[in-house]
Amino acid sequence: MTDTVIPIFDLRDHRYRSMTPAIPARLTPPTGLVTDTRGRMLHDLRISVTDRCNFRCVYCMPKEVFDKDYTFLPHSALLSFEEIERAARLFVAHGVEKIRLTGGEPLLRKNIERLVEMLARIETVSGKPLDLTLTTNASLLARKARALRDAGLTRVSVSLDAIDDATFRRMNDVDFAVRDVLDGIETAQSVGLAPIKVNMVVKRGTNDAEVVPMARHFRNTGIIVRFIEFMDVGASNHWQMDEVLPSNEVVRRIDDAFPLEMITANYTGETAERWRYRDGGGEIGVISSVSHAFCGDCSRTRLSTEGKLYQCLFATEGYDLRALLRGGHSDLEISNAIAQIWRDRTDNYSEQRGDPAVRLARAEQKIEMSYIGG
Ligand code: SAM
Ligand code: SF4
Ligand code: SF4
Repeated sequence: MTDTVIPIFDLRDHRYRSMTPAIPARLTPPTGLVTDTRGRMLHDLRISVTDRCNFRCVYCMPKEVFDKDYTFLPHSALLSFEEIERAARLFVAHGVEKIRLTGGEPLLRKNIERLVEMLARIETVSGKPLDLTLTTNASLLARKARALRDAGLTRVSVSLDAIDDATFRRMNDVDFAVRDVLDGIETAQSVGLAPIKVNMVVKRGTNDAEVVPMARHFRNTGIIVRFIEFMDVGASNHWQMDEVLPSNEVVRRIDDAFPLEMITANYTGETAERWRYRDGGGEIGVISSVSHAFCGDCSRTRLSTEGKLYQCLFATEGYDLRALLRGGHSDLEISNAIAQIWRDRTDNYSEQRGDPAVRLARAEQKIEMSYIGG
């Protein structure tokens, strides 16, 4: 194994690069459809509402970087709920049908249910309700599930990296108990935030022994576990290729215990490959962004907590949408700027990851997962 050198001081005092988007000279109304240089449609918007978190998952916010000296964003830098809602409406007019709130830990953002209520009023271009969801570590879910549902949240994804309590406590690194996450999941289920998906990041040698126990625990519950390959997001998580357990190995291990068969995707651009238990015990998903790049139909864009737009999870530079939102520009102007950014999009990092030169060029500049959201 090679050692990774972490420039700790720089990471604590991060300043991500960004540029102010240009407003095109000729303004046209949105058509509900915008495609990038590879013909990929804009369908999915992820909005990070805070860069803070009460967990220190080893693969996301390692303690030695995200410590008491880490400079999180000041409140004045965050997009307000009104700014987020305005931006969301502009994206929806370009064809976005799915919005996911994320972070950091989104339930730490004060009055998050008010934002959910504002976003839930937005209709898609074809007049349907948005698919409005949220990814959470569930630490506050038991307390907030009902208010979120009442505000119009459609469903929720919960992160849980082990069913074994000791392993989970090691993964979240703040001694948080599995039981409390399960309570959050049960409350969310009981108020109807369904179907619930549980995300497990699999790190070989750390929690991969939990793959089959997680599958076993959630079989026959209606909850879909999605096994995510450990990714080289950000610059702080000591990522090594040999700590990635490829999804085909995840499927093989589960299939040995509970036979599986593949099923078709729900829609083009779905990140998870779907499998179901042959005995009718439900389904699982695998997200293989390392072993099997799915850039070819990536329809996602991401708005950071401070209003920077990133076209890829592995981007090193964002577009400062907040500058436009606070700069006195009209909706039509900002809408055209957004459309142009998407039209110019070329991103395909996961397809290039195998090239050491590409990896090296981005190594220390990639934005952190806790900043941009999953
Ligand atoms: N705090 C919330 C949570 O954990 O669900 C939302 C934000 S978190 C950044 C979103 C998702 O990213 C989580 O499911 C988390 O497990 C995943 N994630 C974070 N770092 C990752 C990494 N290095 N590789 C793969 N997934 C990662
Ligand atoms: Fe927090 Fe989510 Fe990152 Fe874990 S994965 S540290 S819960 S933001
Ligand atoms: Fe999309 Fe970037 Fe991931 Fe490729 S690497 S699937 S472009 S987010």
